Amino acid sequence: MSEATADIGVIGLGTMGANLALNIAEKGFTVAVYNRTTAKAHALKADNPDLAGNIVPAETLEDFVASLKPPRRVLFMVPAGPLVDEEMEKVGPLLSGGDVMIDAGNADFHDTVRRSKAVEGTGLHFVGMGVSGGELGARHGPSIMVGGAKETYGSLKPILEKIAAQYQGAPCVAWLGPDGAGHFVKTIHNGIEYADMQMIAEIYGIMRDGLAMQPDAMAGIFRDWNTRGLASYLIEITAVNLAEKDPDTGKPMVEVITDEAGQKGTGRWAVIEAQKLGIGATTIEAAVAARGLSARREERLQAAKTFADVKTPASGFQAGDAAMAELESALEAAKIIAYAQGYATMASASDEYHWNLPLGTIAEIWRAGCIIRSHFLDDIAKAYDGGARVVNLLQSPHFVERVAAGQAALRQVVARAVLAGIPVPALSAALAYFDDYRRARGTTNLTQAQRDLFGAHTFHRLDKDGVFHHHWPAV
Ligand code: NDP
Repeated sequence: MSEATADIGVIGLGTMGANLALNIAEKGFTVAVYNRTTAKAHALKADNPDLAGNIVPAETLEDFVASLKPPRRVLFMVPAGPLVDEEMEKVGPLLSGGDVMIDAGNADFHDTVRRSKAVEGTGLHFVGMGVSGGELGARHGPSIMVGGAKETYGSLKPILEKIAAQYQGAPCVAWLGPDGAGHFVKTIHNGIEYADMQMIAEIYGIMRDGLAMQPDAMAGIFRDWNTRGLASYLIEITAVNLAEKDPDTGKPMVEVITDEAGQKGTGRWAVIEAQKLGIGATTIEAAVAARGLSARREERLQAAKTFADVKTPASGFQAGDAAMAELESALEAAKIIAYAQGYATMASASDEYHWNLPLGTIAEIWRAGCIIRSHFLDDIAKAYDGGARVVNLLQSPHFVERVAAGQAALRQVVARAVLAGIPVPALSAALAYFDDYRRARGTTNLTQAQRDLFGAHTFHRLDKDGVFHHHWPAV
């Protein structure tokens, strides 16, 4: 049997697990590692001689558990879904009171709530932890969103604060609330990521199809934008993506990659949860739908032939600095609206599930390490400074002026794109949401009238209190 020397153990040494284990070892903690294919555990130690003293590979789960110091901390980094339950069922019986199981994969938060309940009364603790930043983040500092009992977080905090990304000296990790809170926030993070990426892709589409720009020129623009309000990891990598050449053909890499986006489901979950909560996360919806449609490439190629004769007016976009400035302002305004939708979804979930999510802290721990990292998140954090109650970011004084200033550009860009037949589903969803949100008199008075006519669903009146039903003429 192994000696109990490890501070924490990682099960699942794929892309994320292996890198997280190395990150933990590098920060001076001893990490036990176990993998279904056990050779990977030994390879992790052998391939990293500088960290080998802090890595304890195990051949069996029994050895793995025996190598952990109590209270034992076991972190699962395996594909989300039933596999997590299977792994917990194998490891749970080997643990004892006070030990902690941590699911660090991209779990559906409903599963996390269920798993948290399942360990109640067993003496074991369960933590659902969202980790963002991909492979590099896991290795050098991810953003970590923790859900579970606050006391349990206390026992993990010293390790998590060391391995997390740092933003100006502050670790990008926090306890966000009980059971599913961490995984829910990770889901919304991914939803916002989808929207942000889709809107950038739509701006690229305008540059390519509306302005006939070459990828090199676009890369220069994105590099420039990365020095101001839009500065972010996603804008930075977009410039890199656009500047890269294919070694085989010498063509820009983006021109040899098929236009079919993949997705693993977290964006879809974000949309589903927003819908259940009655929040219009329309930019995220547009992004998820656009990825879905993009994946139907054969069908689109056929449709392109079917509608080849449908002509759209020539693009109203004109090259030049003014056009670039307009695109930049439009993207910035749309981005604020997309993040406002994500935050509105979290605020609503916080009320619904009594999580008391610290929305400002969430912005703080997203400032570094994760895919949507940016200084813009610092502005969001400031909107919540001192626990300020923010009804919607679009009404926060920090953003009112910026959206008011950028909306005209967004309107111009969306209008020109629509006329030219260039699809901008997320940008136009952002604009429509903004216009609907700021409209004092909407149109669902008609919807209510229809519902009352066909289903006696009743309605409220502007001029009288109470609930009313009208005897509409027979149709
Ligand atoms: P990988 O596919 O790289 O690794 C999966 C790991 O799970 C491997 O160690 C694999 O073992 C193990 N595994 C797979 N199937 C089984 C099984 N049936 N029984 C036991 N072990 C199994 O996944 P990632 O590291 O990319 O992802 C892990 C989790 O992290 C997922 O929930 C993912 O959504 C999440 N995540 C991923 C990110 C990313 O950028 N990749 C970012 C943030 C979160 P073996 O080596 O034997 O195949």
